[in-house]
Amino acid sequence: SKGAAMVTAVAQRLASQRHQVDEALSSLQLTQEHLGWVKSRMRAGLEAGLKSHGPSPVKMLPAYVYRTPDGTEHGKYLALDLGGTNFRVLLVKIRSGLRRSVRLYNKIYAIPLEIMQGTGEELFDHIVQCISDFLDYMGMKNTRLPLGFTFSFPCYQKAIDTGTLVSWTKGFKATGCQGNDVVDMLRDAIKRRNEFDLDIVAIVNDTVGTMMSCAYEDPQCEIGLIAGTGSNVCYMEELRNVEKVQGGEAEDGGREERSRENLRMCINTEWGGLGEDGCLDDIITPYDSAVDRESLNQGKQRFEKMTSGLYLGEIVRQVLLDLTRRGLLFRGHVTEALKTPGIFHTKYLSQIERKVYDRLALLQVRSILQQLGLDSTSNDSIIVKEVCGAVSRRAAQMCGAGMAAVVDKIRENRGLDHLDITVGVDGTLYKLHPHFSMVLQHTVRALAPMCQVTFTLSEEGSGKGAALITAVARGDQAR
Ligand code: BGC
Ligand code: MG
Repeated sequence: SKGAAMVTAVAQRLASQRHQVDEALSSLQLTQEHLGWVKSRMRAGLEAGLKSHGPSPVKMLPAYVYRTPDGTEHGKYLALDLGGTNFRVLLVKIRSGLRRSVRLYNKIYAIPLEIMQGTGEELFDHIVQCISDFLDYMGMKNTRLPLGFTFSFPCYQKAIDTGTLVSWTKGFKATGCQGNDVVDMLRDAIKRRNEFDLDIVAIVNDTVGTMMSCAYEDPQCEIGLIAGTGSNVCYMEELRNVEKVQGGEAEDGGREERSRENLRMCINTEWGGLGEDGCLDDIITPYDSAVDRESLNQGKQRFEKMTSGLYLGEIVRQVLLDLTRRGLLFRGHVTEALKTPGIFHTKYLSQIERKVYDRLALLQVRSILQQLGLDSTSNDSIIVKEVCGAVSRRAAQMCGAGMAAVVDKIRENRGLDHLDITVGVDGTLYKLHPHFSMVLQHTVRALAPMCQVTFTLSEEGSGKGAALITAVARGDQAR
């Protein structure tokens, strides 16, 4: 009768809603076949970037780090860490021998948005002001310390102590920096302040610091991965494959050709650039395109925008917006909160995904959504949780596919049927998300079965790692 008809109508509406939500989610789901493509495109990107001619989406920047630490490193170093979640200044004391140890003292400083996106001079003046404060705090204004500068952006290097900023990424946009030497800009700012002096020994990508810090404990570590605000990888490549350094201006230009055969160099892949030539277009969704359009660097860093913390929340928001506009979520109310870029921090994604599916967990999802100004039914909470899951899972799988390309390349470089290797990892996404690291590892295992890959959390890559690189660089100079 009438009642039964109403029940049927409601059931039909729910089924159709479910169907449409599933369809939206399926655009974010990657099959094993898709992941195989991502791996092979990443491999092609790595190879193209190693060639000397022309710019390439995967930049493959030589880092002028020839070896990982061997435990003989020692001394007192200053380190800077710019480009992640926080800006930090650190003092690092390294001891070798029987009392081998690394001690760190650090202070975190905020970089206000208007400085991140102001002028380069303002940015570097601010950095030097923070260093000044730190040196006062440590009572070290009068010691000329060697400095390792962890600068987590793509830099074109001709030596360990020079680096031209290729382009800003993530949330940075300071003017007058792209195309300039970052070390010169720092030196100039130190001169302008005229209060203390520093010996800038090394400029370091955070991936390289992460690898070095982990390699200090584990010699099998020859890869560094950041899965945080941004996404990137570095690894030890055979020097003979690095066309950009061969024969040219390389620091080791004087060394004998024969020894070059056994030499390696760390390469900062800048894998986040994959897809800038359209090679990921068949898996890029309208949600990804919307995130790209709203970013500071439209058209750039397409892989990074599908895999890193700065963007995952935005992808989720775009999906929720779409579902709401289609009346499938939040009773069709597109609120101001939902229209606000950046409301979904990675932190919330991690919280929403942390719990198992039970009533209590869904109530918690609801209360997180409420904090964000989103009034949800319990059905909404289920959908939001599914969206978060799909977006973060895809991110971890893509990182895994990229990593599979890297480890297989290293294995082939060395002519091995089997490779045992450790990846030093850092980054808020990897550390805070409840499933990211598992999915990443599963994917690597499935796509690179001839490699046994161990992932190790790398503590303090940007501080300890930068100091170790500085120590290694000075040691190598003295040799
Ligand atoms: C930068 C890389 C960096 C990564 C992780 C990316 O946006 O281009 O240089 O390693 O973020 O911080
Ligand atoms: Mg960092």
